[in-house]
Amino acid sequence: MPAKEMDLPCMECNNAEAAVTTRSRSLCGPCYQRFLNYKVVRRMEKYKGPKDLAKSSVPTARLLLPLSLGASSSVLLHMLDKALARQLAKTSRTSYVLEILVVEPSTISPDQASCDIQFDKAREAFPKHTFNRVPLHSIFEYVPDMTEIMRDYVGPQYIDDDSKSNEERLAAFRDAASSATSKADLDTVLFTRLAVGYAKHTACESILWADSDTSLAAKVLAGAAKGRGASLTWQVSDGMSPWGVMFDFPCRDLSKPELLSYVSVCPELSEIVIPDRPLSDNILTKNLSIDELMLRYVTTQGEKYPGVMANVSRTAHKLHSTSGHGGPLCSLCGGLVENVNGNEDGITVTGQFATENPRFCYGCMRSRPDTVLN
Ligand SMILES: [Zn+2]
Ligand SMILES: [Zn+2]
Repeated sequence: MPAKEMDLPCMECNNAEAAVTTRSRSLCGPCYQRFLNYKVVRRMEKYKGPKDLAKSSVPTARLLLPLSLGASSSVLLHMLDKALARQLAKTSRTSYVLEILVVEPSTISPDQASCDIQFDKAREAFPKHTFNRVPLHSIFEYVPDMTEIMRDYVGPQYIDDDSKSNEERLAAFRDAASSATSKADLDTVLFTRLAVGYAKHTACESILWADSDTSLAAKVLAGAAKGRGASLTWQVSDGMSPWGVMFDFPCRDLSKPELLSYVSVCPELSEIVIPDRPLSDNILTKNLSIDELMLRYVTTQGEKYPGVMANVSRTAHKLHSTSGHGGPLCSLCGGLVENVNGNEDGITVTGQFATENPRFCYGCMRSRPDTVLN
C-alpha cells in the first residue's frame, strides 16, 4: 500500500500503519518489536558466544529466566526465543539455552489465581525451552539450609514442625511477619532465594530478571526506604549476586509502558500474559506495602517524567557491587550484615540485635516480627 493512503505510516519501513509511538518514533508492530528487541539483545551480548560459534567448542551457557507470566518476563522470553532462533539459523547452534521457572502465583499470594492455562500456552508457544513450575514452598527443597535460617531469624517463637507439609511450614513463617511491608519484603527475599536455589540445581550460571526501568526505579526507592540500601546494587545491577550466580537485567533500558505496548502488538503473547491487577484507588494507603506504594508512585510519575525514573535505576546501576565486599553477609537476603551497626547508610541500630543476631542485616531485622528499633 503506498504511504500516502495511510493515516500515519511507520517511520521505519514506511510500508504499514504505525501502531505505537515511542521516543518520538511512530512504528508499525513488527518494526516496534525490532526496535525494543535491539535494546535487549544488546544487553545479552556477553552471552552471544565467539564469532565462529558454529565451529567453536565453547560449552553452551545455561540461563534461568523466572517467568511470572506478566508482561515484562513474557516479552523477554519472546525476544530471547526469537534471538535464539536467528542464531540457530545462522550458526546451527545456540550460545545459550533457557531454563524457564514459573513460581506458581497462587502459592505467593492466595488472592492470585492459578496460572494453569497461561503456563500451558507458554509451553506450547515456546517449545524449545525447558519449563518448570514450582510452588514458593519448594524453597525448602532448593535451599537446604532454609529451615535453620528461618529458625534463627524469627527466634524462639518460631516453632518449626517437621511433621507439617512444606506449605504449612512456609505459611507459619510468613504469618510471623506483622505488616504488609514486612510480608512483601520477606516474600521478595524468599522468591529471590528460591530462584537462586533453582538456578544452582539446574546448573544455570545466571538469572535473567525481566525488570523494566520502571520496576528497577521502584526497587531502588523501596529498598532505600526499607533499609536495604547496602544490597541494592546486585538487586538492580548486572553482576555477581552473593550466592555465586550472576544476575542480569536485560530489559533495563525499556519502560513498563513500552513492554505493555510490545504485548499489544504481539498476538503470540495475547493468551499468555496475565494482566497486572489495576492500581485501585480504593485500597487504603496504610494497607499497602512500601514496595507497592513505590511501584504506584514510579508508575504514575514515570508517565509524566519518564527520564527521571530511567535515571534512578541508571544511577543505582553505576554503584559498586557489595557482594565482593568481603564483609559478613546476611544469611537470609545476602545483604551486608555490617549495616546493622551503622554507618554506611548513616543508620545506627543499637541494642539487642547488633550482638544477638549478627547473621542478619538491618533490612531483614526491620521485617522481623516483634522488632523494636532503638
Ligand atoms: Zn514498520
Ligand atoms: Zn538481610
